[in-house]
Amino acid sequence: MEDVVTRPAVFILLGPPGAGKGTQARMLTEAFGLVQLSTGDMLRAAVAAGTPAGLAARSVMEAGGLVSDEIVLGILKERMRQPDIRAGVILDGFPRTAAQAAALDDLLAENGQTVSAAIALEVDDEAMIDRVAGRFTCAACGEGYHDRHKQTARPGVCDKCGGTEFTRRADDNAETARERLSAYHAQTAPLIAHYDDLGVLERVDAMGSIAAVSQQLARIVSRVSA
Ligand code: ADP
Repeated sequence: MEDVVTRPAVFILLGPPGAGKGTQARMLTEAFGLVQLSTGDMLRAAVAAGTPAGLAARSVMEAGGLVSDEIVLGILKERMRQPDIRAGVILDGFPRTAAQAAALDDLLAENGQTVSAAIALEVDDEAMIDRVAGRFTCAACGEGYHDRHKQTARPGVCDKCGGTEFTRRADDNAETARERLSAYHAQTAPLIAHYDDLGVLERVDAMGSIAAVSQQLARIVSRVSA
């Protein structure tokens, strides 16, 4: 039989802070074995580790601005060199600027590849501030919760893994969330047109329940991967 070169599928989740990119990326990881690449998580890890990139990124992240393309691309490209991404990737929080989108297109083109689908999670701005300002995460398994909309069944105990330690991001407060939302509208939302022009844009109504949104995403990923 002829050798078939299979190239990893590359899915992008686009949407403002709080739209559910991280939650849905985790679902796609579990359901389809895609590897979640979150530049936000990578940057937070760099900040925690005190690397030069982390030191440079920290104050920008705390103010709700965008970290420089140079730093983000450095971190992402290094991650994309790891062999596990052959399973296919779901990019969560990247690209966020026109320069990042162009760099991703170039990186994929080196391998004869293009973006498989860019999925825009469409939501309402005011609801996003409310979602972001109350959210917290299980420190052990990463399950996401919210002070008002998604509490743990037993106070202080993670429903999923029984963990009792939780973390809140330094930038998850109403003021910083507003800055992040305006950075999204100014620099990231224009990418929707870029992926529309490439013919790979999928729009999803992300105001429904987590399960309803997951279903729509699963349908898109199954169709595009077929
Ligand atoms: P959210 O989508 O909820 O805003 P993220 O975890 O994706 O959260 O990002 C948190 C912060 O990390 C951003 O506000 C920004 O400062 C920085 N960041 C993450 N990804 C990028 C990126 N691709 N380009 C520039 N900055 C980024």
